[in-house]
Amino acid sequence: MFIGHFGLAFAAKRVAPRVSLGTAFLAAQFVDLLWPSFLLLGIESVRIAPGATAVTPLVFEHYPTSHSLLAVIGWALALGGAYALTRKDTRGAFVVGFLVLSHWLLDAIVHVPDLPVAPGMDLRVGLGLWQSQAATFAVEGPIFAAGVWLYARSTLAKDRIGRYALIGLVALLALVHMGNVLGPPPPSVSAIAWLGQAQWLLVAWAYWVDAHRGSRVSAV
Ligand SMILES: [Zn+2]
Repeated sequence: MFIGHFGLAFAAKRVAPRVSLGTAFLAAQFVDLLWPSFLLLGIESVRIAPGATAVTPLVFEHYPTSHSLLAVIGWALALGGAYALTRKDTRGAFVVGFLVLSHWLLDAIVHVPDLPVAPGMDLRVGLGLWQSQAATFAVEGPIFAAGVWLYARSTLAKDRIGRYALIGLVALLALVHMGNVLGPPPPSVSAIAWLGQAQWLLVAWAYWVDAHRGSRVSAV
């Protein structure tokens, strides 16, 4: 899953207005931000096999440190805990932790059964939505659209950057998603890893957008 994760991060503004969109992006995509580094370090591995699923040509061979349920629970506690220690925002800390965990839950919908439950355990899960392009668009698109809508309604642009940087970010995410689903397979695993590192720019972009938007509503 790609933009569905960002959809949830956008939506988080509605329940935790003090959490920056950048922090929400960091949390919702945390394990996908770790994954490229683990690939480059040789800790985890992926294989390119065009046609592996209708959506992704990637075969996730080994990624228990970033993507096993047990590890993701650990990352969620770590990130939520770090947020709690640095901000006086208990609600925000829970939302940050939940966003980290939500990544695994959403991935479990789209992945074929390759998501490990715990490192060293053979049990792998995945409902396999990626077997269909139409189903993938039908699930991820509305999650993303609803999230963006909630964020736009919960915040107000302070200036032109707050308006246009948000529109640019949403358009870029939608384009990358289309490219991921419909485009050609990546040329190499190192290309995947380096392109994956570029996601940090999305986090920075989201902090930039959020700094130029003010809260419109109080928390629900
Ligand atoms: Zn993932």
